[in-house]
Amino acid sequence: MKKIGIMGGTFDPIHYGHLVAAEMARAEFKLSKVLFIPTGTPPHKNRRDISAGEVRFEMVKRAIQDNPAFDISALEIEREGPSYTVETLRVLRRTWPEDELYFITGSDALLEIFSWREAEEIFKLIQFIGAARPGFDASDFFLKVQQEHPETQGKIHYLEVPALAISSTDIRARVRRGEPIRYLLPEPVRLYLEELGLYVE
Ligand code: NAP
Repeated sequence: MKKIGIMGGTFDPIHYGHLVAAEMARAEFKLSKVLFIPTGTPPHKNRRDISAGEVRFEMVKRAIQDNPAFDISALEIEREGPSYTVETLRVLRRTWPEDELYFITGSDALLEIFSWREAEEIFKLIQFIGAARPGFDASDFFLKVQQEHPETQGKIHYLEVPALAISSTDIRARVRRGEPIRYLLPEPVRLYLEELGLYVE
């Protein structure tokens, strides 16, 4: 039985915080690989324009090219309509019926987990690794969740990732203000977004 990490996120853009989180999760949970899945049309996002799926996919592809344990899937980008995690997980379960799957994402995204479609079903399909920014403490929240929803017991894991002080929101704001973003994300990604003029107002 293998252990596989599924790294879900918008990745607009992907940055070193994401990459360090995936690598730390891989080592700590002994994952044989981490599959990055950029979201298609996120169901919960109408608050800002998100870069096209193909562009975010290309950024992730360039970012992970030098790590043989990282891979990418276009599953959500290619799917029509809103991207529900439960649907993605059902497809992945067919690929890996016997293996242990871990969904890695931002721990602040996990605070909303019970608003996700078929949240209870999701916990039958996968465990979670919440990658936390330094200073982020949601232990009370998760304790309460595990008390109220016994099916989540032992299925939400925490990983503090100091590199997550970097954020996609901050990178986009820096580009808008004409400030440097070098060393916050892999150079091939920086060159690509510069080439496309992404995030420039
Ligand atoms: P988001 O609201 O854009 O991000 C929430 C926070 O989590 C941000 O601080 C973000 O930082 C961080 N984050 C996001 N992905 C991360 C990752 N892989 N590793 C570390 N930090 C991460 O959340 P999102 O990216 O749209 O959604 C996260 C995942 O949850 C996606 O796979 C999405 O499909 C899933 N989701 C599913 C449903 C549903 O099925 N109904 C609803 C919501 C979310 P950065 O901005 O720096 O990335």
